Amino acid sequence: MNVATYMSQLAQQVGFIYVPKCASFKNDVTYQKGAAFGVRQGYLVALALTVAGRTTGFVMVVRYAKSAASEQIQEAIKNHPGFSKFLAKKSVKASADGVVVSWTFGFSRTKIEEVISSLDVVIQEVSKYAAGFAGKCEDCATAETRQITLMNGMPGYHCVGCQMRIAAEKQREADEYKAKDANYLGGLAGGLAAAAVTGSAWGWLVSWMEADSGKWSPKLHAVVAFGISIPVAWLIFKAMGKRDRAGQALAVVLTLAAKWWGDAIYYTHVLMHYENVAFSWQLVGSVLRHFFDYKFFDFGHKMVAAFDVGISLLVPWMPWGKLPKFVPVFQTINPDGSLTLTQAQGAGAS
Ligand SMILES: [Zn+2]
Repeated sequence: MNVATYMSQLAQQVGFIYVPKCASFKNDVTYQKGAAFGVRQGYLVALALTVAGRTTGFVMVVRYAKSAASEQIQEAIKNHPGFSKFLAKKSVKASADGVVVSWTFGFSRTKIEEVISSLDVVIQEVSKYAAGFAGKCEDCATAETRQITLMNGMPGYHCVGCQMRIAAEKQREADEYKAKDANYLGGLAGGLAAAAVTGSAWGWLVSWMEADSGKWSPKLHAVVAFGISIPVAWLIFKAMGKRDRAGQALAVVLTLAAKWWGDAIYYTHVLMHYENVAFSWQLVGSVLRHFFDYKFFDFGHKMVAAFDVGISLLVPWMPWGKLPKFVPVFQTINPDGSLTLTQAQGAGAS
């Protein structure tokens, strides 16, 4: 069974609508093939198969009217007998108006019946503490709203008036953020400092691990830029006081520079080992002058270089490199599983 078949069968069994084009409703998690939305026992529910990095999993969202009992809900679900047995690697996170339950089993290891029975367990526990939306807009709690609206993919009930108000508020926030001054000099200084520290740490660590033994683990060398990019991007944006394209470009350049600076230290140590000489900055300088002879030494090294460049270029799409998103997207779900932007969307986003 493939993902799409699994999702449509699951949707059919609970009477939900399967929306293949829904990409995500939580940050940093991508849906393999859309999500299923619907109402079960009065509660709004979303179900999806997820993929985060190389881990596949499942996510289930049960939404309820604002409740102060989120902690009790979270504990009740976690402690439900049988639930913990089924979900070995699970996470339960309840907030004021919904609970997200996720686990890291692929669909091949999670039977549809098991998904449904655990969904009913979650709803059963939620119903002890919080009510469903009962046909009212969840924002103003007055306007009658029966159509499910996705706000950035998250199902909810938002009347047209509230959608327009929220979109306008967020647009104002976005404009204010855009108008804010960024401290580029600080960002550059912070980024350079982070790059120097993380790059040096990488260089000396891998030298200690590999240079004397003659071992070389290309996989580690290929992916370490990923880890380096986190402190580099974080410190750049922190020092700038905002996130923008220039900061992203700086993060790309400095991630690559940090990785290659560390590589230069590593090549120096390899050279020290073969020539049996002591460390000196002169030696580092000579390695730097011939850096690309080392970097493109053979096919394996070229592959690592390609990964370095590729990972660095992807920093703007990583959670720590992304620009903030303000204006929400409101969509309604059609019976055939397609999505339509709401009427308020056009007015609010223009
Ligand atoms: Zn409303």
